[in-house]
Amino acid sequence: MPKMQALSCRECGKEYPTRDLHVCELCFGPLEVKYDYEAIKGRISRAKIESGPYSLWRYHDLLPVEGEPTVGLYAGFTPLIRARNLGAFLGIDELYLKNDCVNHPTLSFKDRVVAVALTRARELGFETVACASTGNLANSVAAHAAAAGMQCYVFIPGDLEAAKILGNLIYRPNVVEVEGTYDDVNRLCSEIAGEHRWAFVNINIRPYYAEGSKTLAFETVEQLGWRAPDQVVIPMASGSLLTKIWKGLKEFEKLGLLDHVPTKLNGAQAEGCSPIATAYRQGRDFFKPVKPQTIAKSLAIGNPADGYYALKATAESKGAMETVTDDEIVDAIKLLAQTEGIFAETAGGVTIGVLRKLVKQGVIRRNDVTVAYITGNGLKTQEAVIDAVGRPIRIQPSLTHFTKTFGLKEGA
Ligand SMILES: *Cc1c(COP(=O)(O)O)cnc(C)c1O
Ligand SMILES: [Zn+2]
Repeated sequence: MPKMQALSCRECGKEYPTRDLHVCELCFGPLEVKYDYEAIKGRISRAKIESGPYSLWRYHDLLPVEGEPTVGLYAGFTPLIRARNLGAFLGIDELYLKNDCVNHPTLSFKDRVVAVALTRARELGFETVACASTGNLANSVAAHAAAAGMQCYVFIPGDLEAAKILGNLIYRPNVVEVEGTYDDVNRLCSEIAGEHRWAFVNINIRPYYAEGSKTLAFETVEQLGWRAPDQVVIPMASGSLLTKIWKGLKEFEKLGLLDHVPTKLNGAQAEGCSPIATAYRQGRDFFKPVKPQTIAKSLAIGNPADGYYALKATAESKGAMETVTDDEIVDAIKLLAQTEGIFAETAGGVTIGVLRKLVKQGVIRRNDVTVAYITGNGLKTQEAVIDAVGRPIRIQPSLTHFTKTFGLKEGA
């Protein structure tokens, strides 16, 4: 029995074959992978998962590929860190950080979605892969395409951080810098996708790509000893990651791998680009597109494709949404580094800044088991903090000068 039954429309339920399709031709709703959970139930178990590879492929039974993985074999299974110092500082007894700063190979959570998307793209016979990216996605597509020997085009907005641009060029894909915002890039890519038979990972094969994000939920549950957390804090760009963490938790519940999902989803955005969080706080179930203006460039999507579904999932979980200013993002990056020794990118600053606010507001309480998702590495967004960390203390190569500079006693 195949585990993937169909692609189905999230709005009207119409079903389509599991090809490179992403919108419903009846109602223009987005398509999503539909599984045969009865068939999966017969073959999945905690023990089987635990004996699987140390990568996201240990959840192969719940991922939208037919055969064995061929791309991104080492992505996922990142550390879940018990954050005692940060927890004590904030006033949470059991705080964990899911650390995708160290995802393989490009140091962000995007290595998950790309491993799944490119494996599926190959199954569907594509030789060229492409994406519209806010930065991390392009890095991951470029790296995986190089390793897989696939042709590659990545499209990025005109104002990306230096390390994210270099992190494309080094793999030698076609790097296309578009004069405009991510939303302009995305619109252009939708047009290009209509002209060429390329696998645009977040456009025509988005239903498969998005499923890779579920593994952040699966790993969290397994690493907590088969428990779902009480609270999670998730950064939002298109809102896809948040909706898929919810889907992953619900799948584990449906399959009997979890008894109960008490989890409240909390969505985090930068104040300078917060269409989803603003709508949620105003009690609306639709968002108004914005023009992004924030240092959190990886989250700078003004017209988020899954915004509507992120609002719905958060409401269903009885969760919250919050925003932080650019200054609060920088403070939170430093706080995380100085308490836990983890250097996150600006999206991590958004997550920790929002976590801090939600604890202060009493939304997250001391005894809530809480997981914060740290989705990208700080070495890629150095511009954001370079002026906020001071300079090294410069000395002459002399013991006396060193001792004097630090006011230490000689020979003590
Ligand atoms: C892409 C990205 C996200 C979230 O993306 P969604 O579009 O909401 O799924 C979060 N953090 C980082 C660092 C990212 O690059
Ligand atoms: Zn439809």
